[in-house]
Amino acid sequence: MKSNNILQEAKQAIEQAQSQSVLEELRVKYLGRKGIVAEFFAQLTKLKGDERARQGQELNALKHEITRALEQRENAMQTLALEKLAEAEALDVTLPGARLPYGHLHITTQAIEEISRIFAQLGFQRMRYPEIDWDYYAFESLNMPKGHPARDEWETFFIAGSQQTLTRPNGHPLPEREGRVRAAEHPKLGRMVLTPHTSNGQVREMERRRPPIRMINIAKCYRRQSDVTHAPMFHQFEGLLIDRNVSVTHLKGTLDYFARAYYGKDRRTRLRPFHFRFTEPSFEIDISCGICGGTGEIHGERCKVCKSGWHELGGAGMVHPNVLKAGGIDPKEYSGFACGWGIERMLMMKLKLSDIRAFYIADLNFLEQF
Ligand SMILES: [Zn+2]
Repeated sequence: MKSNNILQEAKQAIEQAQSQSVLEELRVKYLGRKGIVAEFFAQLTKLKGDERARQGQELNALKHEITRALEQRENAMQTLALEKLAEAEALDVTLPGARLPYGHLHITTQAIEEISRIFAQLGFQRMRYPEIDWDYYAFESLNMPKGHPARDEWETFFIAGSQQTLTRPNGHPLPEREGRVRAAEHPKLGRMVLTPHTSNGQVREMERRRPPIRMINIAKCYRRQSDVTHAPMFHQFEGLLIDRNVSVTHLKGTLDYFARAYYGKDRRTRLRPFHFRFTEPSFEIDISCGICGGTGEIHGERCKVCKSGWHELGGAGMVHPNVLKAGGIDPKEYSGFACGWGIERMLMMKLKLSDIRAFYIADLNFLEQF
C-alpha cells in the first residue's frame, strides 16, 4: 500500500483548500464511508495475521494524520476569517470565545481508575503511602533483613545521605517530620529509598488500623533499569486482604473476578508455586490467553501469542507470619493474602504493545490512540 503517497497527496490538497466546502469534499473523498481510507480497510480482510495487523496500524495512522491535517486547516481558515473580521470591525463583542483544545487522561491513569473500580466492588479501598520510604518498610519489615540476597532482585535507588538540617528561606529549621528528608538515615528505620515496589504499604497499613483490612495500593515504583520491558519509573498494583480464616481460595476467587472484569468474561487465572520472602506459600499468577482461550492451540497449531495458553501477570501469596508480626498482628488469629503486578505490563498484554517506554516518551500520536 502506498499510504505515504496518499498522505502527501491529501496533505497538499488540504493545505491548498480555500473554503469549508472544499475541505468537506476532501473529508468525504479520504475519510468518507466510501472514501479512499475505507476502501483500504476493506482490502485488509484479504490479508492474514501479522501483515494484516501491520497494515491496520499503518491505516489507522494515515486516518489520524489526515483528520489532523483537516482540523489544522479548518482552524487556520477560521483564524484567518476572524482576523479579516477583526480588521473590518475593530471590536465585536458578539464573537464566540476561543475554544480550548480538550485533552484526556493518560492511558496509565485510565487503567489505574479501572482497576480501582473493579476492586472497590469487592470492598477494597485505595490507599496512598510514601513513594520515598524507609528501608524498614520497603524491605526489612517484609521479611528481608539487611544484607539478604533477596534484596538484589530490586535494583533500588537510595537517597543520598545529608547531614545538613534543611531550613526555611528565613533561616529557621524545618520541623523534623517523617517523609521530609532531613538526614537520609534513621537509627531504626534505616536509609531512605525510592520505593522499588508497592509492598511498602503492607506494614504501614497494619500499623494504621486493625483487621479486617482490604486495601489496594497503586503507586509509582522506581528501579535502576531501562529496556523494552523495563522502565526506571513504572506503576505497580498491590492488593492486601487480612481477616480471620483467609485462605488461598479467597485469593483465587479475587483474581478470577479481576480477570473476568478487566480482560473479559471467559478469562481465568491459575497459580504456580513460586518464592517470595514476604508471602508463604507464594505463587506466580498466570492469566489464560485471550486468543486461544488457554488451550495453547488454534485449529491444531500452536498459539503464536502465548505459546502455552497462559500469560504471566504477577505475583501473589499468603502474607508471611513475620510480616503480620511486624505489623503488630497475631498470625495465630489472622491470616491474609497479597497480590500485585505492574500496571504498564498489564496494559502491554491487553493492548499487545512491545515497548514499555512508549508510555512515557510523550508522543501524542501514541497517546491519542487511547
Ligand atoms: Zn494463546
